Amino acid sequence: MRWDAQRLDLDDGTTLPGMPSVRGLLRSVEVPEFPGLTFHEVRAKSALNAVPADSGMPFGHTINPYRGCSHACAYCFARGTHQWLELDTGRDFDTQIVVKTNLVDVLRRELARPSWKREHVALGTNTDPYQRAEGRYRLMPGVIGALAGSGTPFSILTKGTLLRRDVPLLAAAARDVPVGLGVSMAIWDEELHAALEPGAPSPRARLDLVRAVADAGLPCGVFLAPVLPGLTDHRAHLDAAIGAIAAAGATGVTVVPLHLRPGAREWFTAWLQREHPQLVPRYRQLYGRGAYVPAEYRRWLADRVAPLLAAHRLDRQAGGEARGAGVPGDDEAAFPAGSLPERREDPAAGLPGAAPARAVAEAADLPEQLTLL
Ligand code: SF4
Repeated sequence: MRWDAQRLDLDDGTTLPGMPSVRGLLRSVEVPEFPGLTFHEVRAKSALNAVPADSGMPFGHTINPYRGCSHACAYCFARGTHQWLELDTGRDFDTQIVVKTNLVDVLRRELARPSWKREHVALGTNTDPYQRAEGRYRLMPGVIGALAGSGTPFSILTKGTLLRRDVPLLAAAARDVPVGLGVSMAIWDEELHAALEPGAPSPRARLDLVRAVADAGLPCGVFLAPVLPGLTDHRAHLDAAIGAIAAAGATGVTVVPLHLRPGAREWFTAWLQREHPQLVPRYRQLYGRGAYVPAEYRRWLADRVAPLLAAHRLDRQAGGEARGAGVPGDDEAAFPAGSLPERREDPAAGLPGAAPARAVAEAADLPEQLTLL
């Protein structure tokens, strides 16, 4: 296997001085296969994180194998969480990665509790579970096996093409439990992608991932996100992106404008000032009152996107498998079809808590939905 050379048990990493701010730290290592990254290996006390009931999210629990993310997206909303580790939200977030090495064992114990209700568990809601560290630590196969083995439906949202490694496993899991898969992509311009998502696989590689997932008979919803005002909201850009996503076999698309929360806001604004200073006044106008673009911009984007979705047969009216398109803020806002586990009619396979993706998505609270990307 291509990833075997990066496995933990094949590597003799150099142990570094520990970080007192990281709870449960076993050791910190740098390894030649991942230049520039430091992995802080910890023993986690829990694997399943309960989502507050009033969050509006269509799942009750999440799992985050890693903290920090080597995909290093300038707009990443999760940057702020690194402050809790007394690390900075910029370069440290990209390079100082906390790894829950005992995650699978802890998860198995939690899933075996009689009180576990086998509710939908989401991965990829904070940092990316298929970031580069996963090539070394291989936590996801154990997570997938534990969830499927316990009868727990789950979803994964990622930009990481490493998910391809686990497609056979996911196809097997999908025979046991409902599985939702989501891929996010938005930047079609290679130069812009390299500047804003320097550690993430290219848009074309992510498109190949969508195709591989679809070819395996699995659902794959695409978040066309984040759309960057003045940079990636041109009609030609959106048309090319939506056309390519449709051709790759995505089961649905949701278009999401950029949001700028504290942590990501400072980092992204510094980049904008450096690279596109002419756009700074426009962004001040759009994001001056908060993290989300005003309703007028969302409407404008929805109007722009609607005919493109129809042209590429990704609107709901077009029927078939490709549906679930919409811009948050309008009536069509939804998780893209395929990105959430669908309830099964078979009582043996239907699991408590797995509500239909469409219905749940429509009930989801808009700002909370955006925190996924
Ligand atoms: S946006 Fe997602 S992929 Fe990008 S750095 Fe954040 S968690 Fe990683």
